[in-house]
Amino acid sequence: MNAKVWLVGAGPGDPELLTLKAVRALHEADVVLIDDLVNDAVLEHCPGARIIPVGKRGGCRSTPQAFIHRLMLRYARQGKCVVRLKGGDPCIFGRGGEEAQWLRERGVEVELVNGITAGLAGATQCDIPLTLRGVARGVTLVTAHTQDDSQVNWQALAQSGTTLVIYMGVARLSEIREQLLAGGMAMETPVAMIENASLPQQRECRSDLTGMEEAANRFQLKSPAILVIGAVAAARSGLLAWPADQSA
Ligand code: SAH
Repeated sequence: MNAKVWLVGAGPGDPELLTLKAVRALHEADVVLIDDLVNDAVLEHCPGARIIPVGKRGGCRSTPQAFIHRLMLRYARQGKCVVRLKGGDPCIFGRGGEEAQWLRERGVEVELVNGITAGLAGATQCDIPLTLRGVARGVTLVTAHTQDDSQVNWQALAQSGTTLVIYMGVARLSEIREQLLAGGMAMETPVAMIENASLPQQRECRSDLTGMEEAANRFQLKSPAILVIGAVAAARSGLLAWPADQSA
């Protein structure tokens, strides 16, 4: 008996970006509950497991969260090893924290396994260093989409001096642009929009803050995509004015 639920990040799409620990969890799995942003190619690591798709993408037919909770609990109580496989990292806009707590409250052993989150992968695929000495001293991962009434404090983000990596932003480009401009961010701040990061169909669209909505429309940017906003987003074969080496 190995009753346990692994909450596993499958990374952004490229199956080679899976961690060795995720592969081990998949090998041990009896049942795999899989989100729809997960690349099916990773399922080669669990040929014997029962695969249950539980995708819940905005606008599409979705599996209610409560149902997913009960499904995990039911299989765990049957003594099955359950892997809940999520795109990117399970705890970055992935409800990993909520699911872990809900299961632990019911006596189920849970183990979380990191995945490479889409924002980090997308930037790297486009040669954008999210932090850079003398240019960006930090990075903020933020979602443009909130289900409750909470508001993103765009003004604080505009003035934070950190690189902004925005998830779920494609449908809210206009609002993001206006709020950041109103918050005092410079019009010419570089923007990179990366669709399907790390997958063969990856596309990237570069712009600046004022032109980002128009550029995305022309480009027909589609979800899933992440936005990288900040000076580092100009990085690509010499476009960024690299700071003088301060280590000397
Ligand atoms: N847990 C995931 C995020 C889930 S929220 C992670 O850590 O990556 C879903 C959002 O993630 C999408 O709307 C999009 O903004 C982003 N996303 C996920 N996969 C992506 C990919 N391959 N390329 C670009 N953005 C992606």
